[in-house]
Amino acid sequence: MNKTVVFDNSYVRLPERFYTRQDPVPVSAPSLIRVNEELSKDLGIDSTWLASDDGVQVIAGNKILAGTEPIATVYAGHQFGGWNPRLGDGRAILLGEVLNQNGNRYDIQLKGSGPTPYSRGGDGRSPVGPVLREYIVSEAMAALGIPTTRSLAAVSTGEQVRREAILPGGVLARVAQSHIRIGTLQYFASQRDVEALHTLVNHVNQRHYPEAAEADNPALALLNTVIARQAVLVARWQLIGFIHGVMNTDNVLLSGETIDYGPCAFMDPFHPETVYSSIDHAGRYAYSNQPGIMHWNLIRLAEALLPLFHEDETKAIELAQEAIARFQPLFENARLQGMRKKLGFSDNMAKNTAEDEAMIKDLFESMTEAKADFTLTFRRLSELAGKSEAGTEPASVRDIFEIPEAMKPWLQEWRKRIDNDPQDARQRREEMMSVNPAYIPRNHMIEAAINAATLHHDFGPFHELVDVLAKPYEYNPANERPATPPQPHEVVQHTFCGT
Ligand code: AMP
Ligand code: MG
Repeated sequence: MNKTVVFDNSYVRLPERFYTRQDPVPVSAPSLIRVNEELSKDLGIDSTWLASDDGVQVIAGNKILAGTEPIATVYAGHQFGGWNPRLGDGRAILLGEVLNQNGNRYDIQLKGSGPTPYSRGGDGRSPVGPVLREYIVSEAMAALGIPTTRSLAAVSTGEQVRREAILPGGVLARVAQSHIRIGTLQYFASQRDVEALHTLVNHVNQRHYPEAAEADNPALALLNTVIARQAVLVARWQLIGFIHGVMNTDNVLLSGETIDYGPCAFMDPFHPETVYSSIDHAGRYAYSNQPGIMHWNLIRLAEALLPLFHEDETKAIELAQEAIARFQPLFENARLQGMRKKLGFSDNMAKNTAEDEAMIKDLFESMTEAKADFTLTFRRLSELAGKSEAGTEPASVRDIFEIPEAMKPWLQEWRKRIDNDPQDARQRREEMMSVNPAYIPRNHMIEAAINAATLHHDFGPFHELVDVLAKPYEYNPANERPATPPQPHEVVQHTFCGT
């Protein structure tokens, strides 16, 4: 984002009803919290410049950089199942799009940068806590290999934000392949603006899915592609114990990246009904509901695109239903393949689906009963799955976790099972280690980092946590605490939307 950065703002070239031009509102005393050096490099942005006073002024919204064309985009959405005809970027500004060395296009968005025409009475600001939460969790997701928006930089504003308490303010620079949501299409569908739907489908296909752009029916091809992406994405969440917490249709990106780290959390002890969001009283977005909710959201996407599928509505509905019917098998397949990897079943052995499913079901039941830690159960199983090279025994999580006694009958069955697997034990162990992390962003650690920053202006715990989560599959006993489940008094019951 200095002189060498190429901006090419394709969204601004869409018709004016897609957005409002809006500059960020300056803040009084910005200061840098963190710059993501690796991501800067990937984007071709000089991280030294980004961390300089000039870079900080840009992220804080105090300086408009040449080449950027700041806008707030319009969208609608179903929030907790209820229709909201007009949301839009109420506390975010899209600065523009950069093309990196490989020709890949990325949105750079500021979050918490002041009110816009879509703020609906909100202040357009963000406390520093949600900025840190999003930075920590989005970067952890990226390190875990899960498609996600990224965090390029975080600054504090030197201003106060009024919530239940008075809190220090912050701005996050977020990066995504695009910020176009199911809700963006829903907005134009609800206006019966078929021309805009066409325009947006073409834009998204050209930007993300060139094969879909070439298809006979580009809108249907887009729907099918998004279904496939989201089926795999939600399977990845399930496999890692991630609870999104606010799976509204405006929080589902057509690019297939995870977005919105407001009330999200990773599970500690496994329970299928786990909910963390303080506002999700009915448990709509509980862990076990996530695949069903994604399916529901994709039906809303299909409805929005319906006029583009076929001129005959009955035929259009048929096409939509065919596409939607693919979600469940795609999800089930991704989940089952993923579980087989987590449990060390090689392809040769993983033929008996009914047997595998029974074993997976028993595992989750016994984990629920034993209140077993989701992450460490799989990590410990990986360690138990075979010997490593003599003399190269990697550090074990045994000192902080052991498979609970109550799970021993299941463990015996699993051992029998892998003993019969033709795969080399060392290779099995290695492969399991590469999909079963030791470190996830545990909620109590995030909370501690936010409290230190908010109450004591101490960003040390935040930096330590981000650093350790950058290598989630490498356990280091020197960093035992971030891998350890919370003590009873540390358990965080609720997380809050980042408003
Ligand atoms: P979210 O819960 O982050 O998905 O946000 C839902 C909608 O509320 C989006 O349109 C946001 O832009 C808007 N919003 C959330 N917080 C604020 C805020 N503090 N000021 C203005 N708009 C907000
Ligand atoms: Mg949102």
